[in-house]
Amino acid sequence: MITVESTRCTGCAVCVTVCPEDALSCFGLAEVDENCTDCLICVDHCPSGALSGAGDREEPNDRAPR
Ligand code: SF4
Ligand code: SF4
Repeated sequence: MITVESTRCTGCAVCVTVCPEDALSCFGLAEVDENCTDCLICVDHCPSGALSGAGDREEPNDRAPR
């Protein structure tokens, strides 16, 4: 399951547009629902590093955008 770091999320909704499972919603703050397959696409695309995958919860994602 994907974790949203609420202090980092800017509500830009990029994650909503890239999720292939339609598992993300964003009303000011991103939320993940049970449709998530942990594909981690949203983690790669979040410009704020607000998303992290299972097993990666302690480490904020600071990968540079491609
Ligand atoms: S892409 Fe990142 S900052 Fe933008 S809404 Fe999603 S979690 Fe928040
Ligand atoms: S990990 Fe994949 S399925 Fe889950 S919310 Fe992110 S983009 Fe959607």
